[in-house]
Amino acid sequence: MNKMYETIDVIKKYKNGDGEIFALNNVNVYFEKGKVSTILGPSGSGKTTLLNVLSGLDNLSEGQILFDGTDISKYNESKLTQYRRVNTGFIFQSYNLISTLTVRENVELGAYISQNGLDVDEVLEEVGLTNHKAKYPHQLSGGQQQRVAIARVLVKNPKVIFCDEPTGALDEVSGRKVLDLLQKLNEKYKTTLIMVTHNPNIADMSHKVIYFRDGKIVKELENETISSAFDIDWS
Ligand code: ADP
Repeated sequence: MNKMYETIDVIKKYKNGDGEIFALNNVNVYFEKGKVSTILGPSGSGKTTLLNVLSGLDNLSEGQILFDGTDISKYNESKLTQYRRVNTGFIFQSYNLISTLTVRENVELGAYISQNGLDVDEVLEEVGLTNHKAKYPHQLSGGQQQRVAIARVLVKNPKVIFCDEPTGALDEVSGRKVLDLLQKLNEKYKTTLIMVTHNPNIADMSHKVIYFRDGKIVKELENETISSAFDIDWS
Protein backbone atom coordinates (compact mmCIF):
# COMPACT_ATOMS: atom_id res chain seq x y z
CA MET A 1 0.00 0.00 0.00
CA ASN A 2 1.15 3.47 -0.86
CA LYS A 3 0.70 5.78 2.10
CA MET A 4 0.74 9.55 1.65
CA TYR A 5 0.36 10.13 5.38
CA GLU A 6 0.61 7.99 8.44
CA THR A 7 0.07 9.28 11.96
CA ILE A 8 1.66 7.43 14.86
CA ASP A 9 0.28 7.92 18.38
CA VAL A 10 -0.53 11.55 17.61
CA ILE A 11 -1.56 13.74 20.53
CA LYS A 12 -2.44 17.41 20.34
CA LYS A 13 -3.26 19.12 23.64
CA TYR A 14 -4.44 22.65 24.25
CA LYS A 15 -4.39 24.44 27.59
CA ASN A 16 -7.84 25.15 28.93
CA GLY A 17 -7.72 27.18 32.13
CA ASP A 18 -5.95 24.93 34.62
CA GLY A 19 -6.59 21.79 32.59
CA GLU A 20 -5.91 20.48 29.11
CA ILE A 21 -8.04 19.58 26.13
CA PHE A 22 -6.96 16.62 24.03
CA ALA A 23 -7.96 17.79 20.55
CA LEU A 24 -6.24 14.65 19.19
CA ASN A 25 -6.00 11.80 21.65
CA ASN A 26 -3.68 9.10 20.34
CA VAL A 27 -4.61 9.09 16.68
CA ASN A 28 -3.26 6.33 14.42
CA VAL A 29 -4.46 6.56 10.86
CA TYR A 30 -3.14 6.50 7.30
CA PHE A 31 -4.24 8.15 4.09
CA GLU A 32 -3.41 6.45 0.81
CA LYS A 33 -1.88 8.24 -2.16
CA GLY A 34 -4.25 9.23 -4.90
CA LYS A 35 -7.37 8.49 -2.85
CA VAL A 36 -10.25 10.62 -1.54
CA SER A 37 -10.58 10.46 2.24
CA THR A 38 -13.25 12.11 4.34
CA ILE A 39 -13.17 12.93 8.03
CA LEU A 40 -16.57 13.15 9.72
CA GLY A 41 -17.58 13.93 13.27
CA PRO A 42 -19.40 16.43 15.46
CA SER A 43 -18.17 19.96 16.00
CA GLY A 44 -15.20 20.06 18.36
CA SER A 45 -14.22 16.42 17.77
CA GLY A 46 -10.75 17.22 16.35
CA LYS A 47 -11.26 17.16 12.57
CA THR A 48 -9.73 20.54 11.81
CA THR A 49 -6.91 19.92 14.24
CA LEU A 50 -6.02 16.76 12.32
CA LEU A 51 -5.94 18.70 9.02
CA ASN A 52 -3.81 21.38 10.64
CA VAL A 53 -1.18 18.96 11.93
CA LEU A 54 -1.07 16.95 8.69
CA SER A 55 -0.60 20.11 6.67
CA GLY A 56 2.03 21.49 9.02
CA LEU A 57 -0.06 24.51 10.03
CA ASP A 58 0.14 23.36 13.63
CA ASN A 59 2.65 21.28 15.60
CA LEU A 60 2.05 18.14 17.64
CA SER A 61 2.24 17.62 21.35
CA GLU A 62 3.38 14.01 20.93
CA GLY A 63 3.74 11.39 18.22
CA GLN A 64 4.83 11.37 14.60
CA ILE A 65 3.45 12.28 11.21
CA LEU A 66 4.97 10.52 8.25
CA PHE A 67 4.56 12.20 4.89
CA ASP A 68 5.56 9.80 2.12
CA GLY A 69 7.59 7.97 4.76
CA THR A 70 9.38 11.04 6.18
CA ASP A 71 8.66 12.26 9.70
CA ILE A 72 7.60 15.91 9.37
CA SER A 73 6.76 16.34 13.05
CA LYS A 74 10.34 17.32 13.86
CA TYR A 75 10.66 19.84 11.03
CA ASN A 76 11.58 23.39 11.99
CA GLU A 77 9.48 26.32 10.77
CA SER A 78 11.38 26.88 7.53
CA LYS A 79 11.34 23.20 6.55
CA LEU A 80 7.63 23.08 7.35
CA THR A 81 6.99 26.15 5.19
CA GLN A 82 8.86 24.53 2.32
CA TYR A 83 6.96 21.25 2.81
CA ARG A 84 3.62 23.09 2.76
CA ARG A 85 4.51 25.21 -0.24
CA VAL A 86 5.65 22.32 -2.41
CA ASN A 87 3.24 19.57 -1.43
CA THR A 88 -0.04 20.90 -0.10
CA GLY A 89 -3.02 23.02 -1.06
CA PHE A 90 -5.96 24.17 1.06
CA ILE A 91 -9.58 24.78 0.16
CA PHE A 92 -11.82 26.29 2.83
CA GLN A 93 -15.51 27.00 3.20
CA SER A 94 -14.70 30.67 2.59
CA TYR A 95 -12.96 31.23 -0.70
CA ASN A 96 -10.28 33.69 0.48
CA LEU A 97 -9.89 35.30 -2.94
CA ILE A 98 -8.27 38.68 -3.35
CA SER A 99 -11.07 41.03 -4.28
CA THR A 100 -8.92 43.53 -6.17
CA LEU A 101 -7.47 40.88 -8.49
CA THR A 102 -9.21 39.24 -11.45
CA VAL A 103 -9.97 35.53 -11.60
CA ARG A 104 -6.87 34.94 -13.71
CA GLU A 105 -4.66 37.01 -11.40
CA ASN A 106 -5.94 35.13 -8.35
CA VAL A 107 -4.98 31.85 -10.02
CA GLU A 108 -1.61 33.24 -11.14
CA LEU A 109 -0.81 33.85 -7.48
CA GLY A 110 -1.02 30.12 -6.86
CA ALA A 111 1.30 29.39 -9.80
CA TYR A 112 3.75 32.03 -8.61
CA ILE A 113 4.69 30.16 -5.43
CA SER A 114 5.08 26.78 -7.13
CA GLN A 115 8.13 25.12 -8.62
CA ASN A 116 6.34 22.70 -10.93
CA GLY A 117 3.08 24.51 -11.49
CA LEU A 118 0.55 23.85 -14.23
CA ASP A 119 -0.40 26.29 -16.97
CA VAL A 120 -2.79 28.95 -15.64
CA ASP A 121 -5.05 29.03 -18.72
CA GLU A 122 -5.24 25.25 -18.91
CA VAL A 123 -6.32 25.10 -15.28
CA LEU A 124 -8.93 27.83 -15.83
CA GLU A 125 -10.31 25.74 -18.69
CA GLU A 126 -10.27 22.65 -16.47
CA VAL A 127 -12.43 24.32 -13.82
CA GLY A 128 -14.75 25.88 -16.40
CA LEU A 129 -13.80 29.50 -15.85
CA THR A 130 -12.19 30.48 -19.14
CA ASN A 131 -15.06 32.83 -19.94
CA HIS A 132 -14.83 34.47 -16.53
CA LYS A 133 -11.10 35.00 -16.23
CA ALA A 134 -11.19 38.79 -16.57
CA LYS A 135 -13.92 39.17 -13.92
CA TYR A 136 -13.45 40.09 -10.28
CA PRO A 137 -14.58 37.76 -7.46
CA HIS A 138 -17.67 39.87 -6.59
CA GLN A 139 -18.95 39.34 -10.15
CA LEU A 140 -19.09 35.56 -9.62
CA SER A 141 -21.49 33.21 -7.82
CA GLY A 142 -20.35 31.36 -4.69
CA GLY A 143 -19.81 28.15 -6.66
CA GLN A 144 -17.73 29.97 -9.26
CA GLN A 145 -15.66 31.63 -6.55
CA GLN A 146 -14.99 28.24 -4.99
CA ARG A 147 -13.86 27.00 -8.40
CA VAL A 148 -11.39 29.90 -8.57
CA ALA A 149 -10.10 28.85 -5.14
CA ILE A 150 -9.73 25.27 -6.44
CA ALA A 151 -7.93 26.51 -9.57
CA ARG A 152 -5.56 28.56 -7.43
CA VAL A 153 -4.63 25.43 -5.49
CA LEU A 154 -4.57 23.11 -8.50
CA VAL A 155 -2.21 25.33 -10.51
CA LYS A 156 0.44 24.64 -7.85
CA ASN A 157 0.13 20.96 -8.73
CA PRO A 158 0.26 19.82 -5.09
CA LYS A 159 0.43 16.18 -4.02
CA VAL A 160 -2.32 16.70 -1.46
CA ILE A 161 -5.34 18.97 -1.34
CA PHE A 162 -6.95 19.52 2.07
CA CYS A 163 -10.57 20.65 2.00
CA ASP A 164 -12.28 22.02 5.11
CA GLU A 165 -16.06 22.09 4.48
CA PRO A 166 -15.58 22.87 0.77
CA THR A 167 -19.31 23.01 0.12
CA GLY A 168 -20.32 24.54 3.46
CA ALA A 169 -21.38 27.86 1.94
CA LEU A 170 -22.95 26.47 -1.23
CA ASP A 171 -26.41 25.40 -2.32
CA GLU A 172 -26.96 21.87 -3.59
CA VAL A 173 -26.44 22.54 -7.31
CA SER A 174 -23.20 24.51 -6.81
CA GLY A 175 -22.02 22.14 -4.07
CA ARG A 176 -22.38 19.10 -6.31
CA LYS A 177 -20.50 20.87 -9.10
CA VAL A 178 -17.63 21.68 -6.76
CA LEU A 179 -17.48 18.08 -5.48
CA ASP A 180 -17.65 16.78 -9.05
CA LEU A 181 -14.72 18.99 -9.95
CA LEU A 182 -12.69 17.75 -6.97
CA GLN A 183 -13.54 14.17 -7.89
CA LYS A 184 -12.46 14.69 -11.52
CA LEU A 185 -9.20 16.33 -10.44
CA ASN A 186 -8.49 13.39 -8.15
CA GLU A 187 -9.05 11.00 -11.06
CA LYS A 188 -7.07 12.99 -13.61
CA TYR A 189 -4.09 14.22 -11.56
CA LYS A 190 -4.18 11.50 -8.87
CA THR A 191 -4.08 14.26 -6.28
CA THR A 192 -4.67 12.92 -2.78
CA LEU A 193 -7.77 14.59 -1.30
CA ILE A 194 -8.42 14.82 2.42
CA MET A 195 -11.73 16.44 3.30
CA VAL A 196 -13.34 17.51 6.55
CA THR A 197 -17.09 17.91 6.51
CA HIS A 198 -20.30 17.84 8.50
CA ASN A 199 -22.07 16.38 5.48
CA PRO A 200 -22.20 12.58 5.92
CA ASN A 201 -23.37 12.14 2.31
CA ILE A 202 -19.88 13.03 1.06
CA ALA A 203 -18.75 9.74 2.61
CA ASP A 204 -20.27 7.90 -0.36
CA MET A 205 -17.87 9.56 -2.80
CA SER A 206 -14.81 8.80 -0.66
CA HIS A 207 -12.50 5.80 -0.75
CA LYS A 208 -11.95 6.03 2.98
CA VAL A 209 -14.11 7.51 5.74
CA ILE A 210 -12.99 8.27 9.28
CA TYR A 211 -15.33 9.16 12.12
CA PHE A 212 -14.02 11.30 14.96
CA ARG A 213 -15.36 11.81 18.44
CA ASP A 214 -13.60 13.54 21.35
CA GLY A 215 -10.24 13.55 19.60
CA LYS A 216 -10.34 9.83 18.80
CA ILE A 217 -11.17 7.78 15.76
CA VAL A 218 -14.30 5.81 16.60
CA LYS A 219 -14.92 4.21 13.20
CA GLU A 220 -13.12 3.75 9.88
CA LEU A 221 -14.48 2.32 6.68
CA GLU A 222 -13.34 1.85 3.11
CA ASN A 223 -15.69 1.96 0.13
CA GLU A 224 -15.05 -0.50 -2.68
CA THR A 225 -17.08 1.55 -5.12
CA ILE A 226 -17.54 5.26 -4.85
CA SER A 227 -20.49 7.33 -5.98
CA SER A 228 -20.37 10.28 -8.31
CA ALA A 229 -20.91 13.70 -6.74
CA PHE A 230 -24.17 13.90 -8.68
CA ASP A 231 -25.50 10.63 -7.22
CA ILE A 232 -24.90 11.12 -3.50
CA ASP A 233 -27.85 12.09 -1.28
CA TRP A 234 -28.12 15.76 -0.43
CA SER A 235 -30.40 16.31 2.51
P1 ADP B 1 -13.69 20.15 14.76
O1 ADP B 1 -12.89 20.55 13.56
O2 ADP B 1 -14.06 18.71 14.77
O3 ADP B 1 -14.88 21.03 14.97
P2 ADP B 1 -11.41 21.12 16.26
O4 ADP B 1 -10.28 20.34 15.75
O5 ADP B 1 -11.56 22.53 15.75
O6 ADP B 1 -12.77 20.33 16.06
O7 ADP B 1 -11.30 21.24 17.86
C1 ADP B 1 -11.07 20.10 18.71
C2 ADP B 1 -11.00 20.57 20.16
O8 ADP B 1 -9.83 21.35 20.37
C3 ADP B 1 -12.18 21.44 20.59
O9 ADP B 1 -12.48 21.14 21.92
C4 ADP B 1 -11.63 22.83 20.45
O10 ADP B 1 -12.28 23.72 21.34
C5 ADP B 1 -10.16 22.64 20.84
N1 ADP B 1 -9.28 23.62 20.17
C6 ADP B 1 -9.05 23.71 18.84
N2 ADP B 1 -8.17 24.69 18.57
C7 ADP B 1 -7.84 25.24 19.77
C8 ADP B 1 -6.95 26.31 20.19
N3 ADP B 1 -6.22 26.98 19.29
N4 ADP B 1 -6.86 26.58 21.50
C9 ADP B 1 -7.57 25.88 22.41
N5 ADP B 1 -8.41 24.86 22.09
C10 ADP B 1 -8.55 24.55 20.80
